[in-house]
Order: sequence, then C-alpha cells, then structure tokens
Amino acid sequence: MKCTRCRSRAEVYLRQHNSGFCRRCFVVYFHRQVTRAIEHERMFTTEEDVLVAVSGGKDSLALWDTLHELGYRTTGLHLSLGIGAYSDHSTEKTKRFAETRDLPLITVPLAEEENGLAVPAVAAFTHRPACSACGVLKRHYFDRLALDRGFPVLATGHNLDDEAARLLGNVLRWQTDHLARQHPVLPPTHERFVRKVKPLFRVTEYETAVYAFFRGIDYVIEECPNSVGASQLLYKEVLNRLETTSPGTKLTFLQEFLNKGRPAFAEGEPVPPQPCESCGMPAYGHVCSYCKLVREVETKRERTRRHA
Ligand code: SF4
Ligand SMILES: [Zn+2]
Ligand SMILES: [Zn+2]
Repeated sequence: MKCTRCRSRAEVYLRQHNSGFCRRCFVVYFHRQVTRAIEHERMFTTEEDVLVAVSGGKDSLALWDTLHELGYRTTGLHLSLGIGAYSDHSTEKTKRFAETRDLPLITVPLAEEENGLAVPAVAAFTHRPACSACGVLKRHYFDRLALDRGFPVLATGHNLDDEAARLLGNVLRWQTDHLARQHPVLPPTHERFVRKVKPLFRVTEYETAVYAFFRGIDYVIEECPNSVGASQLLYKEVLNRLETTSPGTKLTFLQEFLNKGRPAFAEGEPVPPQPCESCGMPAYGHVCSYCKLVREVETKRERTRRHA
C-alpha cells in the first residue's frame, strides 16, 4: 500500500480513516490530529505554560513529545506512585526522556511526601481498590502542584480508547453527573483549580504506540500490576471488537456524545466546590476526598499501633 500523502511505501494503515502513511507522514498526521484537538477545543496557546502529567508510559510521553515538537511551553509532572518495580521503571524512563530533550521535569515520590502515603500503603490501610486510592492521590497532587507552581493548564495523555471506554462505563451505569463532566477540556470550577485538557482524545492507543515507536520514544512497556482485571480494560476490548467490524466506531461514539449527548446532561448550574476545611483545596463536602483518605489511613494506622 502507498502513503496517502506522499505516495511512497506506507508503513501503517489506519482503517478508520481509510488511509496509509509512511513514517514521516504518520508523524505529520499525528501532530495534525493533536493540533486540531488543541485549537478546535481551545485547550491552550503557545503563550501559556502547560504542565504535562507524565507516567512514563507511551501515551503521556507521546503527548509530551508532540507538544514540545509543536512549540508549546511544557513542564513534565511525574508522580512516583510507590508501586514496586513498575514505579521505579516508570520514573527512570520519564527522567531519561526529560534529560535527553533537556525538558523541565517535576518529580514527586509520594512515599517521601508530607505523610508518606504511596498507593500500596493507602490501599492496604483503607481496603480500597488500589486504583481508587491512586485516583484520589493523583487528582490531589496534580491539582495542588499545578496551582502551587502557577500553571494555568494541566494536560494528561488520555487517548480515544480511554475516553470511549470511560464513556461506555458512564453510560452503562447512567452516571449522569459524570457524563455532564466528560469533556476533553474542563474549565476550572473553582479559583484553586486549573484548566484540565486531554489533547490526545482524537487518537487511538494504537496510534500513540505507533507514534512512540516511529519517534524512538523509550517508554515503560510493563503495565501497572493493579490494572489487571480493571473494568476499563473490558470496555476497551468490547469497543475494539466493534471497531474491527465497523471502523470509526470509537471516534463517532465519543465525538457524537460530545456534540449531541453531553449538552443534555450538562444543563443547569453545577454546584460549585467549597474550600476543604483541612487543606483548602476545592471540595464537594466539608473535606476533600484526599483529606478524607488521609484521615482514614491515620485512624487505621493509630488503631494498628495501639493493638501492636
Ligand atoms: S492501574 Fe490503577 S494503581 Fe496502577 S497506575 Fe493506573 S490507576 Fe494507579
Ligand atoms: Zn508519506
Ligand atoms: Zn483537603
């Protein structure tokens, strides 16, 4: 097959676009998809400092590479989650990526933070699934660091597969409040929140993997051990089966939801968050989910100490 852009030999074929690309043209195509997402959704401009959440995986590093190549002002933010060898390798790859491109990187080892709470400890003390504890910690640190360091916008590497799977999960349970908030750009609902954006929402996981490969990005290949059995993976599998028989399903599912479905759920004024009594970050109760989690861990730690 020939490259749709330059007619040389194609190395990758994208069924959903009925197009083939050589290496060079695929990178151009990928950058265009991201530029289109950023400009069409008014995510940020070249005048703004963008904080990019990087895990060390292919999506976040492909995002950082793309934004840098496109001339945006970026700083990486990496949380070392304390999940054994997986976290060590992720931190190593992220640091190396930043060093070789001379890009600024903020690394936060959770186990060394104020209360020493990394993901495994929180999950063990609270008996919560690791991903739920991890989600609360990540959200809190992303929000707080973006605010403390003065960034107006935080970008994450969620791709089309992530967003379509999330949409399917929300629809299956008719989580109307989540559906109202599902969008590639979330404007701040409180002065202590920053804008959150997902510039890769138009490209598939396969496309980010191809991009990372063509660009020679060295990312952590192993999956987090806690991802095994996550319902998100099942939704992705189902959507991939639909995509095989009907190419373009994922993009249409998400894009048409954003165009037609979401406005119906987003009607009415959302309840604004109030400052958390404990840490001052925005919260939907007296205390934010992070402080609730920390209190739960402290109570359980204390109980364990007393019984020891
Ligand atoms: S799989 Fe779960 S625990 Fe692992 S990084 Fe993702 S959210 Fe965190
Ligand atoms: Zn070409
Ligand atoms: Zn709090």
